[in-house]
Amino acid sequence: MYLKRLEISGFKSFANKTVLDFPHNVTSVVGPNGSGKSNVADAIKWVLGEQSMKSLRGKKSEDIIFNGSDKKTKMSAATASLVFDNRDRKMPLDSDEVVLTRKLFRNGESEYLINKDKVRLGDIIDLLARSGISQRGYCVINQGMADSILVASPAERMVIFEEATGVRKFQIKKEQTVKKLEATRKNLDRVTELLIEIEPHLNLLRRQASKAEKRGEVSEELRREQTSYYDHVWQDLIRGNAGYKKDESTLTAQIENGDKEVERIKKDLAENSVDNESYNKDFEDLQKKSNTLQQELNDFQREISIAEGRIEIEREKMEKAKRPEFKPINLGYVKEKIAKIISSYNVFVEKIAQIKEMSELDEVRKETSEVKTEIDALYSEIQQGRVCLKGEENFDDTDLCNFEKAKEEVSIKAERIRKDYDAVRTKVAELNRSEQEKRQAFFHLERQLQACQDEINRAKDNLNRINIEVAKFEVRKEDLLNEIKDELGEGVAILVKIKANEDIEIQDDQGYFNREGAELKIRRLKNQMDQIGGIDPLIMDEYKETQQRFEFLSSQSRDLAEASESLKQVIAELDEKVEKMFKVSFKSINDEFNRYFKIIFDGGKAELSIKYETENKEEGVDAEGESSAEEKEATKGKPKIAGIEVSAIPPGKKIGSLNMLSGGERALTSIAILFAIIAHNPPPFSVLDEIDAALDEANSFRLSRIIKEIADRTQFIVITHNREMMAQADVLYGVTMQDDGVSKIVSVKLDEFSE
Ligand code: ATP
Repeated sequence: MYLKRLEISGFKSFANKTVLDFPHNVTSVVGPNGSGKSNVADAIKWVLGEQSMKSLRGKKSEDIIFNGSDKKTKMSAATASLVFDNRDRKMPLDSDEVVLTRKLFRNGESEYLINKDKVRLGDIIDLLARSGISQRGYCVINQGMADSILVASPAERMVIFEEATGVRKFQIKKEQTVKKLEATRKNLDRVTELLIEIEPHLNLLRRQASKAEKRGEVSEELRREQTSYYDHVWQDLIRGNAGYKKDESTLTAQIENGDKEVERIKKDLAENSVDNESYNKDFEDLQKKSNTLQQELNDFQREISIAEGRIEIEREKMEKAKRPEFKPINLGYVKEKIAKIISSYNVFVEKIAQIKEMSELDEVRKETSEVKTEIDALYSEIQQGRVCLKGEENFDDTDLCNFEKAKEEVSIKAERIRKDYDAVRTKVAELNRSEQEKRQAFFHLERQLQACQDEINRAKDNLNRINIEVAKFEVRKEDLLNEIKDELGEGVAILVKIKANEDIEIQDDQGYFNREGAELKIRRLKNQMDQIGGIDPLIMDEYKETQQRFEFLSSQSRDLAEASESLKQVIAELDEKVEKMFKVSFKSINDEFNRYFKIIFDGGKAELSIKYETENKEEGVDAEGESSAEEKEATKGKPKIAGIEVSAIPPGKKIGSLNMLSGGERALTSIAILFAIIAHNPPPFSVLDEIDAALDEANSFRLSRIIKEIADRTQFIVITHNREMMAQADVLYGVTMQDDGVSKIVSVKLDEFSE
């Protein structure tokens, strides 16, 4: 890569388009004072991105645009282009030629172009840096700049050497890294401050949130317990009421059935009513008949008794007639017997009348047979008496027979009457029995009716009681619903369920429900809630937010601390790299310096030396200001370079300080340093703007030799008035300025110029 051409137009005194080709290693630009030679150097510097108007020898940016003259009007824009041969692709662009252009318009607008494409200044600087062309380097060197190396303080010189040794870019990187570290530290401090500020609040919120969480858990448990509790209570209530309903329908049915039964019994009673009148009449009729027959029977008995008495008498008479001893039947005895029999009979009749059950009839029968036995015995006794009497043959038994016959007749009658009587008594007994049965059936019905009515009354009582219970249930149900609403809220599931269908299917009793236990638990949970107290519902949100912020800041703090550590690492690495690189390059430059010094001065001794900072800082060392805390920390323990000292002793002289050198010696020493730098790191091209001004011919010659020596590595454009310098040039351009104030380029020959 080399600089092929410079094209300028409207730039300072070069109003017209001017082209300077640089086909060879050394090109000289010559011309009278004020013709515009240095404007060529300025144009090159400008295209390379120079921003300092001071460096471009102007005050404001438009000072670089041709300002017009008496004969030529000013231009509206300045343009300058550097054309590079890039066939070796040292410039990282895929073209054989690279054209860098800078334009400035009077309105202040400016343009940068690479191969006619608009770019930013940064792109130009980047491209140049990557091509080894530094705008701050040694591409354009003027006299003042050369001298400034000696004029500068050691610290300022250090800056020049940092540039020259190539460590500057790493130092810039380091400076940037230090700035980043500072910013990171500041951020870290800010984050730490925030963390310290937030933490107590976060702790407070955490405690409150944990309380809120606990309260939420207790509240949840309470709600669960209450839901289960009310579910059970509701079920119990409904189940109880269902029992009442069941009982109610049973009782209602019972009452209805009872009423029907009562009706039926009443009907039966009506049908089976006891007719006392009819019975009494029948009984009296029969009793009358019985009495009549009794009377008749008694009469016959009396007649029979009388007949028997007479028969007795007759028999006694007959006995007496027969002499046989016979005992007459005692009439009193017979009467007594008959009376006894009648009495038994009456008792017997009475008993028959009162017979109610069959067993009693058997009793009466027994008595009947006893009475019959008595009658039979008496009869037999009487018969025996009569037989005895009948045995008497001599005895007139007519009376006896009459008597016996009469007795027989009466007995037959009596027997008939007795049968009638017995029949009547049987009827009486039958009537009584039937009446008794009727009465019994009636009373039985009456008792049934009573029992039935008692049953109905009991059922009605129960029904009333149940109705009261049902009314109580309604009240309890309403109370319970209100309680659930108060405790759990309007929309709670159980309430919705209950309201949707109050008769929700009631599960079978799910076993033992410890109501008291549940109530105790609910009371305990409510107490717990009271103890925890009310908590702002927004606390949870605020806690989460603050927690997130705290975590975010914590992670930021960690990241920043890590970043800070790695930045420190980078700084340390850069320092190490800078130190190594500086030492190596510095030695090389120092060697070159000594060599060029000896060439230029034809002997003598020159040396560059590094000056380190001591604890008591030396004056001028801190030209760039105090190092930051970060930088100090990063470079802790290492001696810091304070600056570069120059010692230059021309041959045969005893020089204590640079101030003792002559102007020319100073210029030569500066040039030796410059060329040592250029030789160490040759730029692609270098513009030397009258750096030889202070040199005599011999020294100019030495300088031109040095230029020639380096020219195979660096292309030189030398602006000079010096013939020796011109003599080394391959091409010579003359710059002239006529009275129109416009610089022009003319090719000149050395001989022409010298004339
Ligand atoms: P010397 O040999 O004395 O150093 P030189 O040849 O290097 O001189 P320059 O300094 O390059 O001369 O040019 C100076 C000339 O350029 C002056 O005449 C000045 O008027 C002219 N000039 C500078 N800026 C402008 C501008 N914006 N418009 C017109 N002319 C300008």
